[in-house]
Amino acid sequence: MAKTSARKTAAKRGTRSSKPASRAPRAAGDKKFVYLFGRQTDGNGAMKALLGGKGANLGEMCRIGLPVPPGFTITTEVCTYYYANKRSYPPVLRAQMDAGIASIERQTGKKFGDLKNPLLVSVRSGARDSMPGMMDTILNLGLNDQTVEALAARTGNPRFAWDCYRRFVQMYGDVVLGVQKRADEDHDPFETVIHGLKHERHRQDVEDTTLTADDLKELVARFKALIKERAGKQFPNSPWDQLMGAVGAVFGSWMNDRAIVYRRKYNIPTEWGTAVNVQAMVYGNTGDRSGSGVAFTRNPANGAKEFYGEFLINAQGEDVVAGVRTPEPVSELKAQMPKAYAELERIRQTLEKHFKDVQDFEFTIEDGVVYMLQTRNGKRTAMAALKFSMDMYREKLIDWKTAVMRNPADQLEQLLAPVFDAAEAAKAKAIATGLPAGPGAASGQIYLNADRAVAAAEKGQKVLLVRIETSPEDLRGMIAAEGILTARGGVSSHAALVARQMGKVCVCGAAAIEVDYQARVVKVEGRSFKEGDWMSIDGTAGKVYAGQVKTAPSEIVAGLIHGDAAAKKTEKFKNFQQLMKWCSDASRMSVRTNADTPEQAANAVAFGAIGIGLTRTEHMFFEGDRIDAMREMILAETEDARKAALAKLLPYQREDFAGIFRALHGYPATIRFLDPPLHEFLPHTTEQQAELSKKIGVPAARIHQRVEQLHEFNPMLGFRGCRLGIGYPEISAMQARAVFEAAAQVQKEGIKVRPEIMIPLVGFKKELDLQIEVVHQAAREVQAEQKVKLNYMVGTMIEIPRGALTADEIAQSAEFFSFGTNDLTQTGLGMSRDDSGSFLPQYAELEIVKKNPFATIDTTGVGQLVEIAVTKGRATRPNLKLGICGEHGGDPASIQFFEKVGLDYVSCSPYRVPVARLAAAQAALQAKAGD
Ligand code: PEP
Ligand code: MG
Repeated sequence: MAKTSARKTAAKRGTRSSKPASRAPRAAGDKKFVYLFGRQTDGNGAMKALLGGKGANLGEMCRIGLPVPPGFTITTEVCTYYYANKRSYPPVLRAQMDAGIASIERQTGKKFGDLKNPLLVSVRSGARDSMPGMMDTILNLGLNDQTVEALAARTGNPRFAWDCYRRFVQMYGDVVLGVQKRADEDHDPFETVIHGLKHERHRQDVEDTTLTADDLKELVARFKALIKERAGKQFPNSPWDQLMGAVGAVFGSWMNDRAIVYRRKYNIPTEWGTAVNVQAMVYGNTGDRSGSGVAFTRNPANGAKEFYGEFLINAQGEDVVAGVRTPEPVSELKAQMPKAYAELERIRQTLEKHFKDVQDFEFTIEDGVVYMLQTRNGKRTAMAALKFSMDMYREKLIDWKTAVMRNPADQLEQLLAPVFDAAEAAKAKAIATGLPAGPGAASGQIYLNADRAVAAAEKGQKVLLVRIETSPEDLRGMIAAEGILTARGGVSSHAALVARQMGKVCVCGAAAIEVDYQARVVKVEGRSFKEGDWMSIDGTAGKVYAGQVKTAPSEIVAGLIHGDAAAKKTEKFKNFQQLMKWCSDASRMSVRTNADTPEQAANAVAFGAIGIGLTRTEHMFFEGDRIDAMREMILAETEDARKAALAKLLPYQREDFAGIFRALHGYPATIRFLDPPLHEFLPHTTEQQAELSKKIGVPAARIHQRVEQLHEFNPMLGFRGCRLGIGYPEISAMQARAVFEAAAQVQKEGIKVRPEIMIPLVGFKKELDLQIEVVHQAAREVQAEQKVKLNYMVGTMIEIPRGALTADEIAQSAEFFSFGTNDLTQTGLGMSRDDSGSFLPQYAELEIVKKNPFATIDTTGVGQLVEIAVTKGRATRPNLKLGICGEHGGDPASIQFFEKVGLDYVSCSPYRVPVARLAAAQAALQAKAGD
C-alpha cells in the first residue's frame, strides 16, 4: 500500500517536473537550492548566510569526519523566494529535493514511504544566527498507518515505532496543522490528551517511557481525532505531502510571533530568512541503550572548563530541549554507557580544536552509537564569555584580539549586576533548590504567565516569572522579568538558553515547587505564594528564597569602586581587568563619562573613563537650598537682582567644579552651560507657589505670573540652550567664573586641571561667538585676580541640524565639537524625545524604524548630519576634537558608527563605561580587519 502511494506520488511528481524525480539532474542555469551533506557534502561552515547556521555546520562536521546522519539543506534563498512569491517555491526546488531524498536513501539503504524499511526524516529550521526554540521542528516524518507497521516489524520493537508515530502526529499537528494551546488554556492540548490517558490507564502521571505500544497506538488515534476536531483536516498519509507541509511550516515559522519578537530583540534582519534541513532520523527512543542529549564543550553559565550537558535515556531530542522531563547530567553517561561517553569526549575535543570556540551540540545515541545532529557556538552568560575568552587565550586556541571580540559588549553590564548579599542570603531560608541556569541574583513579585508578567512589569513592578517549564511562547514574559524560575526542565532547555543569553537570572528544575496555573499559586514546603508575592532566586547557586533578599555589588564593582581587597583577588575581577587592558590597547577612540558629581566622576574613572564628556550643570541647581537661589534668579525683575541671586549660586557651583576637578586627577572635564528651559525650575501647583512665596518673600502672584510668562508651546525648541546665555549673559558669566575660580583653586593644590567649556544648542556661529566672549572675559578676570595661568578650551555641542550643516563656520570659533545626539535625533527626526514613547513601539513593530533612534543612532538620517559636521568641521580646523555625549555614547551599535566616522571619544554614564570601552575596542578591531 505504501509502495503504491509512493509510486503514485512519483507519478504526480513526473507531471510537474517532467523528469524522473529521483534522478532529476539540475537543468543548466537552474539555481542550486538544495545542498547535500553526508557522504557527499556540498556546503561548509562558512556558508551560514546561504545554508543557515545549522546547515553550514552540519556540512562542516561531515567534512571533519564527525558522525552526522545524511541529509540536505534547503537554502535561505528559498525562504526569500517563498515570501516574495505568495508563499510558493521556485519551480526547480521539488526536483532538487527529490534528488536529496534519493541521496539519503542511497546512504541509509532505507526508502521514503517504503513498506519494508521506511526512511524517516527530521525537518528543522536553521537561520544564519541561531534562534533557539523560536522556529519549528518536525521529527519522524514519513510515518503513516502503514509505514509504522513496517518500522515495528523491521526493528522488532512496536513500542518504539508507535512512540515515533505519536511524536510525529503531535508535532505535525502542532506545527503544521496549527493545533495549539488556545488563549484560555494553560496546557498544550496534546499534553492534555496524554495526561488524560495516563490517568485513565495508569491511574497516575507516569513517565512517558512507561507508556506501552498499545497506549501509544491509542494516543495516535486520539491525536488524529483532536486534529480533525480542531483543524478540520485529516492527517496527511503521503510522506511527500507530509514533507512539503513541514517545509512550508518551517518557512512559515520565520514569521511567527515569537520569532519576530526574538529577531527584534537581537536585531536579526527579517531579510535573512531561514534555511530548512531535512535529515535521516536516528533514534534515541529505541530503548535503554539509546538516548538524546544537549551538551556544551564548557560550562555556559559560569565558564568552567568542564563537559557540561544533559541527556535522557530512551528519548528523542525534543524531550530534552522542551524541558518535559528533567534530564540527567552528561557525566552520568560515563557509568551508564562508557563507550558512548568516550566518543562524546573525543567529539568535544575535536569540536573545540576545530571551531576554536565553545560549542553547544545536540547528539543522539542509537543503540550505543553516537550521532551528531547540530553544533553551534554556545550561547553564554557574560561571566562565561569572559572566562572562556581568557582561558582559550591562555590555552593558545585564540589570540588576544579574538578574546576581546568574544565578549558581547551589550552583555557586559551583567558582570556589574548585583549578587545576593552573603549575610542576607545566609539569614534567608532557601525553600527550594534547582539548577543554576543563569547566574546573578533576582528578587521579584511572582507571575505565572507571560502576559501577566509583562503587564506587571509595565506597571513598574519587578517581576519573577514562575512556570512549570518554560517554552518559547514565554519569551515576552522572560524579557519583562528580572528572573525566571521553573519547576521542571534542565539547564539546556531552550528557554534556559534564551534566559542566559538575555542575562536573566534563571533557576530551573526546582522540583520542590508546585505551580498551580489555575489557582495562580506556587506551593512549596507547605507555604503558598500568590501572584504578586515576593520570591528571590540565586541563579549562580540554584537557590530559591521566600520574600525579598538584599543584594550586594558584584566583585568587579566591589573591587573597582569600593576598593574591596578580597574582591580584587577573584578570578572574575582579574579577568575583567585583563579584558579592559586589551580594550585600551585595541581602541582608537577613548571613553569619557557623563557625570555631574565628584562621586560619579570618580566611579567612571575607576571604570577607566579618561575624562568627563558632559557635565550638565543644571543638575547642580536642584540640590538642597540651591533651587531657591535659582528661582530667585529666574524671578528677578532687574539685572542687579538677577546678579545678586547668581552670586548666591556661584559658591555652590565653584565647590561642585572643584570637587569634579579633584576627582579627575588631571583628566579633562567638559562642562556645559545652562541648557533647559527656565520653567523647569519653577513650581507649578498653587500650593508649591505659595510655599515658595513664603520662603523667598516674592508675592505668589508674581511667581504665578512668571510661570505663565515662561510657558512655551514647544519648550524643547524654545528659550533654552545658548539662547538663555544670550538673553542673560550674566548667567554664563557666573558659570564661567565658577569654573575658573574652581580651576585656579584646584591647580594651586597641585592638581592639573583641564576645563572645556561647552555651549549648548548652537545653530549660528554668532551665538557661539557671543558666549565665547563672555567666557574669555571671565577667564581674563579670574587669572588676573588669582595670578594663575589656566589652560582651557571653549567649544560647542552640535545638536541641531543647522549647527551640523554650518559646522565649517562654527569650527572657526569652536575648539571642539561634542555631538548631542539626543537633541540631534529629536530635531533631525522632528520627533520629540519625550513624546515618542506613544508611537515608537508601533514604528518598531512595523519596521519603520529598525531600532529606537533615541537609543541607537539612526545612521542613515541623523548619522549623515554627524558625518557632514565631522567633514566640514575638520575642513576648517584639522585638529578639531570630536566627541559624542548623547545617550548613544554608551550603545555598542552606535559606537561602531562613531568609530567609522572618526570621532575622538564617546561619553556615557559611569556604569556604561566598561561597555563603551569594549565596544570601542571591538569597533576598532573590526575597522582594522576590514581595511
Ligand atoms: C544631547 O542632546 O544629546 C545632550 C547630551 O544634551 P541633553 O540630553 O542634556 O539635551
Ligand atoms: Mg541636548
